[in-house]
Amino acid sequence: AWNFSAGPAALPEAVLKRAQAEMLDWNGTGASVMELSHRGKPFMQLAAAAEQRLRQLLAIPSNYKVLFLQGGATQHFAQIPMNLAPEGGSADYIVTGVFSKKAVSEAAFHVDARVAATSEATDFLTLPPRAGWQLNPEASYVHYTPNETIRGLEFHEIPDVGEVPLVADMSSNILGAPLDVSRFGLIYAGAQKNIGPSGLVLMIVRDDLLARPPRSIARILRYAEQAANDSMLNTPNTWGWYVAGLTFEWIEGQGGLAAMGERNARKSAMVYDAIDGSDGFYRNDVERAARSRMNVSFVLHDSALDSVFLAESEAAGFIGLKGHKAVGGMRASLYNAVSQPAVEALVQFMRDFAARHG
Ligand code: PLP
Repeated sequence: AWNFSAGPAALPEAVLKRAQAEMLDWNGTGASVMELSHRGKPFMQLAAAAEQRLRQLLAIPSNYKVLFLQGGATQHFAQIPMNLAPEGGSADYIVTGVFSKKAVSEAAFHVDARVAATSEATDFLTLPPRAGWQLNPEASYVHYTPNETIRGLEFHEIPDVGEVPLVADMSSNILGAPLDVSRFGLIYAGAQKNIGPSGLVLMIVRDDLLARPPRSIARILRYAEQAANDSMLNTPNTWGWYVAGLTFEWIEGQGGLAAMGERNARKSAMVYDAIDGSDGFYRNDVERAARSRMNVSFVLHDSALDSVFLAESEAAGFIGLKGHKAVGGMRASLYNAVSQPAVEALVQFMRDFAARHG
């Protein structure tokens, strides 16, 4: 099967095979990694090694902490303002799709969450030009979503927001290409696309943000406490952490993030070329310069063909091509684990389908 799911999504076959091989006897312990204490030496070593690999992949500067948390990205929509903004403080949000809209609405319970720019007027098919952003220099942070998973709308440059810390929800594009971590105050990502299983959230956060005066919130919600306790304030998602470590190792073996970035650019260009070269049979309406390398959405010229496309694609072994219910149509998610042959097979299927039904 060729898996184009949006998340949970395909993981590298080598990672799955290794996890399978180690399932009953991990690291010579005679037990599965998910049956072992997170406080025991074998798991502590695994945890530290996974973090170290990630630090190398992303060249994470030493004044940033890496956290392995839980709650999905959605919980952190709420937790970020609790940690980064004082009681009664304000934060700026750039709204470019369903997830950044959710982020601002969850944040609004905990901070004066201002929409500093939005592309809702174009139905999130464009990015709001940076020149029009109404940023507040007193804001505690600026939040944006570098890749909106549903439409497939991506910032290809990191926006300059001056001295205010930039916070990014990278759930659907982290590790898809090289990244200058030093441009950010905080990066977070649900694991279930480019990292591993759902239930794990990866966070990279600058030390000075952890040192902001704590609000009166539960310890378990405080990032500084998690950082001080190596993300083990309580039992972490040990299985997720383990798979994440395998994925980091796999990326390293593939040539690191530069190789991932080149491969993802090539894969997405193949699908966009198939759409643009279809004489209107398929269409992608996202602003060209903001087309996502991770999620390629498209509609068929006649929506009556949607169910036929899905049925035929499923019969041909393609998984997960149905678009999100908020926008309909189709979507091919091309995360790191989706191979070039899978994309070639998809493009061939799309061309054949158009020839048969055009
Ligand atoms: N942010 C983005 C960009 C997403 O793609 C998703 C979807 O998984 C979420 C947030 C929500 O993540 P979770 O389901 O982990 O809360």
